[in-house]
Amino acid sequence: MSELWRLSAHAAGEGLRAREFTAVELTESVLARVEAVEPRVNAYITRMDGIALEQAREADARFAAGTATPLTGIPFAVKDLIVTKGVRTTAGSRMLENFIPPYDSHVAAQLKRAGAVMVGKANMDEFAMGSSTEHSAFGPTANPWDTGRVPGGSSGGSAAAVAAGECLAALGSDTGGSIRQPAALCGVVGLDPTYGRVSRYGIVAFGSSLDQVGPIGRDVEDVAAILDGIGGHDPRDSTSDPAPSPDMRHYLGRDVRGMRLAAPREYFGDGIEPGVRARVEEALARLERLGCEVDTDLSLPMTEHALAVYYLIAPSEASSNLARYDGVKYGLSARGGSMWENMERTRAAGFGEEVKRRIMLGAYALSAGYYDQFYLKAQRVRTLIAREFRDAFARYDALVTPTAPTVAFPRGAKLDDPYAMYLNDALTLPASVAGLPALSLPCGLSEGLPVGLQIIGDVGAEGAILRIGHALERDLGQANRLAPLP
Ligand code: GLN
Repeated sequence: MSELWRLSAHAAGEGLRAREFTAVELTESVLARVEAVEPRVNAYITRMDGIALEQAREADARFAAGTATPLTGIPFAVKDLIVTKGVRTTAGSRMLENFIPPYDSHVAAQLKRAGAVMVGKANMDEFAMGSSTEHSAFGPTANPWDTGRVPGGSSGGSAAAVAAGECLAALGSDTGGSIRQPAALCGVVGLDPTYGRVSRYGIVAFGSSLDQVGPIGRDVEDVAAILDGIGGHDPRDSTSDPAPSPDMRHYLGRDVRGMRLAAPREYFGDGIEPGVRARVEEALARLERLGCEVDTDLSLPMTEHALAVYYLIAPSEASSNLARYDGVKYGLSARGGSMWENMERTRAAGFGEEVKRRIMLGAYALSAGYYDQFYLKAQRVRTLIAREFRDAFARYDALVTPTAPTVAFPRGAKLDDPYAMYLNDALTLPASVAGLPALSLPCGLSEGLPVGLQIIGDVGAEGAILRIGHALERDLGQANRLAPLP
């Protein structure tokens, strides 16, 4: 019983319901694990031990009262751009180092309502801009598979915490790959839901037409259960889908015979490490043996434009969203001069280099005279990318690709080369730009490090990609994989 932190969330839920152990015992086990490995991993910006134990006691009371849900008593890490009432929410930035929100985001409230336990606020690239969690004002997070390597980003703290046993499940956010790429690099499962599935109310904004909160877990069943807990309409987010969110677990455990898959050529070209390509191709062969039809001839020529489109639209929206950090309303405030001087000083001191780079890129793309040439054109190409996907989904149930071009890379390797860092997202950006749901799950190792496989679905078709992912995960026989971190 001493290593309860090793359990998947659904296995822990069964144990809790059967009264094999209590939520307090489970939480204590996770907190002890955090204590043991956190000096090496740095997955959390803010730990919440006291609150976690209190929530665990409440969870035990719910089991006694018969009012437990599938998430009751499950220890979670929550990415630190998810606003939590009374608990500081930094978005990985000096700008919000001392920001204590007076309200809960929709997803934090949903977790509380379900009786989940919050272990802490997870580390991230500042304002979710990055792919390595090295752009955090609170120090980098290490990959628990090899602490000399990055965990991916921007939800690197969330993914590393799940892989290291510092929580059983986590919430991250994905604008261009920030759930899927760290999940891939840490060997865990991550789901970026359809845009509009999960409310963005109380999420520190990066690119509002792209941002989406989603689950990271040790297996497909866990991410399905978490999406069931956080998805659905919220009138406080004008882009929230008013249709009810279907029961995602309903799609699990079904066979996949006759499902039509394609592995688009553009996702298997140059720049993909041979070991990554080999694992994904082996997984495709498995899916074929499970009865799927797999087409490897599909070409999606718009794919190559997704990177340029994303790096115009996301920074444009960021430059506008981040204008609110003026040193007046909340967050860091460097005073002592005129209003303009104070604003300048605040923004110079509060934002890190990558965030400043994005603001400059975005402000330029939006500026008078360049708007048509850059921002508007990017929006038009975005429509073409979405249309190309829509045509593909008339013929296929899902698309299968690698999640990231490489396995986890050494810390520092891409810090001085922003373009090399941006290329990490080449395979996750297209689905983001089109607002599509996409799942990343582990499909084996290359050079001893996890390889992630991405399954992209049509708008609203999380059920199909979870069904395929669950079947593949079972066939691979590797659900609930923890990093080999002693
Ligand atoms: N790495 C990408 C970026 O830096 C995506 C980040 C994200 O999805 N939040 O913009």
